[in-house]
Amino acid sequence: GLAIGLVGLPNVGKSTTFNALTKAQNAEAANYPFCTIEPNKAVVPVPDPRLDALAKIVNPERIQHSTLDFVDIAGLVKGASKGEGLGNKFLANIRETEVILQIVRCFADENVVHTEGSIDPLRDVEIIETELILADVEMLQNRIERLKKQAKADKKAQAMVDFAQTLLDHLDQGNLARSFPEIDDDRFAELNKDLRLLTAKEIMYGANTDEDGLLEDNEYVQRLAAHAEEQNCEVIKLCAKIEEELVGLEDDERDEFLRDLGVEESGLEQIIRKGFDKLGLMSYFTAGVKEVRAWTIRKNTTAPKAAAVIHNDFEKGFIRAEVIGYEDFVACNGEAGAKEAGKMRLEGKEYIVQDGDVMHFRFNV
Ligand code: GDP
Repeated sequence: GLAIGLVGLPNVGKSTTFNALTKAQNAEAANYPFCTIEPNKAVVPVPDPRLDALAKIVNPERIQHSTLDFVDIAGLVKGASKGEGLGNKFLANIRETEVILQIVRCFADENVVHTEGSIDPLRDVEIIETELILADVEMLQNRIERLKKQAKADKKAQAMVDFAQTLLDHLDQGNLARSFPEIDDDRFAELNKDLRLLTAKEIMYGANTDEDGLLEDNEYVQRLAAHAEEQNCEVIKLCAKIEEELVGLEDDERDEFLRDLGVEESGLEQIIRKGFDKLGLMSYFTAGVKEVRAWTIRKNTTAPKAAAVIHNDFEKGFIRAEVIGYEDFVACNGEAGAKEAGKMRLEGKEYIVQDGDVMHFRFNV
């Protein structure tokens, strides 16, 4: 399924980050009985203040957030693509994810050794990304060999061989597939459909800093941020140790803690929110007295498909949807007010659900 894969060199704070995510999962686990708990996976609620705003109006018995899956990828160390450490198992695990979250050490601490002997975020990023590139090179080489055989009988396959060869050259020069100039070419999509190149995935950097670094960017964070901007990647600063503590706190304690740090949203929350968006996901809402709930759909989903997320029957028997935009719902203080103000729309099968729509489906049984 759609998931974010967590990678990082040893001693950068990856486990601490994953523990914080697992804690966030367990805090909500009772609300998500349908999620199976696996040791290397965390299913975490996606923070969304709009749910609280809706709940204030509707006073439901419970609130349910959208969720996002994180997978802890073990064994990505220097030499991993050559089968060192846990070997190639990690590759299979990353391939199943859609976005990579790379935790990068941006804190100095004498008590926590760095396996490379010094703190240098860009070198760390390069080590990880080199392993990913090498893994892609190997897969692509195998593919090219097979394509060459096909090309003997099928002339069209030769064009694919040439295309794959340009991509291979690009990777061989130490570049990520995602910066391949012809990435929008149909042939890339065709190649990548089952290759699922690791370096074609979106990368987010988690700059793991210490408490001082949260208050003011240190030089490590600054260097990583500059690199991320060059690569057109997201970088999110966090202090994994503090995140772990924050997850256990009550809301008001947490808010105070964050206020003292001078931030509105914790790094972990930003990672979850932005990761959700990077996966191409969004939420629509249902707002009933039993439950105010966010439902996860891909962007550009039609109303019947969105309804199917709640129940298949909703799609099969779909008649139409009553839709109130989130802003209208809040401004009119709920459904009745929105109806009165003419803000409730009746939408049909072709309607593309918008982020934050408050939906009510009408269907035949
Ligand atoms: P992993 O090998 O990347 O999974 O690293 P861990 O999460 O186990 O962290 C390695 C060590 O670094 C542990 O002793 C953590 O307590 C410590 N650590 C993790 N995050 C931070 C941080 O933000 N600041 C500091 N000073 N230490 C941290």
